[in-house]
Amino acid sequence: MNLYFDELLASNYKSNSQKIRIMSENWVGKNMFCPICGNEHISNLDNNMPVADLFCGNCGEIFELKSKKGKFGKKIADGSYPTMIERINSITNPNLFVLQYNNAFMVTDLVLIPKFFFVDSVIQKRKPLPYTARRSGWVGCNILYSEILNQGQIKIINNGDVRTANNIVQEYNKIKALQINNIENRGWLIDVLSCVNKIKDFEFVLKDMYSFVDWLQKKHPCNHNVEAKIRQQLQILRNKGLIEFLGNGKYRKII
Ligand SMILES: [Zn+2]
Repeated sequence: MNLYFDELLASNYKSNSQKIRIMSENWVGKNMFCPICGNEHISNLDNNMPVADLFCGNCGEIFELKSKKGKFGKKIADGSYPTMIERINSITNPNLFVLQYNNAFMVTDLVLIPKFFFVDSVIQKRKPLPYTARRSGWVGCNILYSEILNQGQIKIINNGDVRTANNIVQEYNKIKALQINNIENRGWLIDVLSCVNKIKDFEFVLKDMYSFVDWLQKKHPCNHNVEAKIRQQLQILRNKGLIEFLGNGKYRKII
């Protein structure tokens, strides 16, 4: 795989962000396989499409691309907050590619975040733009990249090393059972899985999970029986193959 952007493409553009957008989207379109179905190519979409940049002609999945020179921090700036919330509630929400490149315009890291890892708690509302701004009152958002669960950050290129399509598709298949279209249910499942992730041991008991009741209650203030909700979500995680029930209130992590 050629890891370098085609710099010639940028010569017709003035703004730096536009140059990067053109070069990075072209790079994905030319070099990347589909990380979801393993199809050899993904294609660039018309720039007039409101959110998605790329799509796979085989499985029909769509992808948005965010690129940055050097490391992404804890947050990734995105567009309008209301549009984002509407998007994550919709079944046409795109998957996200997070791409990092270096000074030589070489791709060093590429991560896939499947669309169903986007829940309200990873979207941060920014302050409205001041009245002096051209788009006064406009409210943008940040994706809280560091809050996205490990299971939802599938590494495709890591420090210049490219994993095989087969490997990545297998990893995706292990977690695709987490796909739930209803945003409220998805929020509970992702939040309870994030509690499971915080437990250090592979095996745990219900009491370990109940130590997160306050944290979950803050995220879901309308729920009046968080403990019951935890038990219900653990059952869903078991049915989806992410944890095992060992009996007597004991559980074991699988992924
Ligand atoms: Zn595909």
